[in-house]
Amino acid sequence: MNISESKRLFAHAQNFIPGGVNSPVRAFRAVGGDPIFIKRADGAFIFDENDNGYIELINSWGPMILGHNHHLIREAVIDAMDSGTSFGAPTAKEIEIAELIVSMVPSVEKVRMVNSGTEATMSAIRVARGYTGRDKFIKMEGHYHGHGDSFLISAGSGAITMGNPDSPGVTKGTAKDTLLAPYNSLEAIEKLVDANKGEIAALILEPVPGNMGLVTPMPGYLEGLREICTREGIVLIFDEVMTGFRLAPGGAQELFGVTPDMTTLGKIIGGGMPVGAYGGKKEIMEHVSPAGPVYQAGTLSGNPIAMAAGLAMLHHLNDHRELYGELLTIGRKIAEGIMKINLELGYNYTVNHLGSMYSLFFSNDPVVDFESAKKSDTVLFGKYFQAMLKRGIYLAPSQFESLFLSTALRDDLITQILQAHRESMIEIHSA
Ligand code: PMP
Repeated sequence: MNISESKRLFAHAQNFIPGGVNSPVRAFRAVGGDPIFIKRADGAFIFDENDNGYIELINSWGPMILGHNHHLIREAVIDAMDSGTSFGAPTAKEIEIAELIVSMVPSVEKVRMVNSGTEATMSAIRVARGYTGRDKFIKMEGHYHGHGDSFLISAGSGAITMGNPDSPGVTKGTAKDTLLAPYNSLEAIEKLVDANKGEIAALILEPVPGNMGLVTPMPGYLEGLREICTREGIVLIFDEVMTGFRLAPGGAQELFGVTPDMTTLGKIIGGGMPVGAYGGKKEIMEHVSPAGPVYQAGTLSGNPIAMAAGLAMLHHLNDHRELYGELLTIGRKIAEGIMKINLELGYNYTVNHLGSMYSLFFSNDPVVDFESAKKSDTVLFGKYFQAMLKRGIYLAPSQFESLFLSTALRDDLITQILQAHRESMIEIHSA
């Protein structure tokens, strides 16, 4: 495979952009080799600058659940462009998307649009603090909530991939209000709550974390968190930036039947445009400016082009709920196919799978939290990543990420993915 143009661009990019990329994991540091520079994408494929096509299993880290360049989103964006790109004033489309989100996501009674998942989580924590008058919050080890200072403590995703789960630049003063707990342990939460009685504003978590690789909640775990938070007056925040509109139309909270007080959203909500949102109970959201005193704003928030893309996406998902069954089938075929091939070849690696998300961990032990995720053989993962890439399959370039499947993955492509998996497993174990 000739990737000469990507190599040339990456070398050139280093002169002007830190590390040559605008988001760290894109640099392929954890898997070796040069990143692929993308020229275009369509359906289940992305194409690099040398016109090589790859079957996509990341889908822009989640947003492209319908595959790339979907005609409905393209048409909505082009149509919106005819009327101008930004007004900085309220529009009818913002009400339409807010109403739609409220109707789809169980916990959301009022919602504020922002420009990224990072903004959504930073704002949600501020609102929870303003609402409760308390400073501390609980975060799970290995969960990622964007790059806001108070979240870059034992953070997953790119932070752990780059070896900086605790980033320099986050002050001790900020870090002291972030309390850490292992995921999937109610006992740990009870202890933290006991030791910080009446001081905890919020508990934020990815209900189904994807940022330490995919991990699923133990039976009763989310329900248990709900009970503790209700009892202690702690605002329970589900960060559904990844899982929102993916695991179900109403996200993980719909799938597991547990309703948080607040929810943060991103990725799919913008149909590939830069959009995030946070919402929740009316009583809490009424604290957001200008209704209440907690300040939060944005020059481009509710941008008309971004809203058009998001509306096209959400209307389509809401009107075609059968797509979630299709995504589940696609996810099952791939995840179960991988497990079957592994067993045939004599490997017992853990595959975590839920709906259209999955992770293959190079570990023989169950992966239930950050500690168990970190036991994975990341060197072997790097070899697997390169072996798959060589065969035209584009995976997330880190062990500590989930894969995101799209409805564009037809059966013939799934067969190709599984064949590439078989060949890659044989190749990486024979070296
Ligand atoms: N929360 C979660 C759960 C995420 O997965 C991400 C991004 N992967 C974020 C927040 C931050 O979103 P963004 O990158 O849009 O700032």
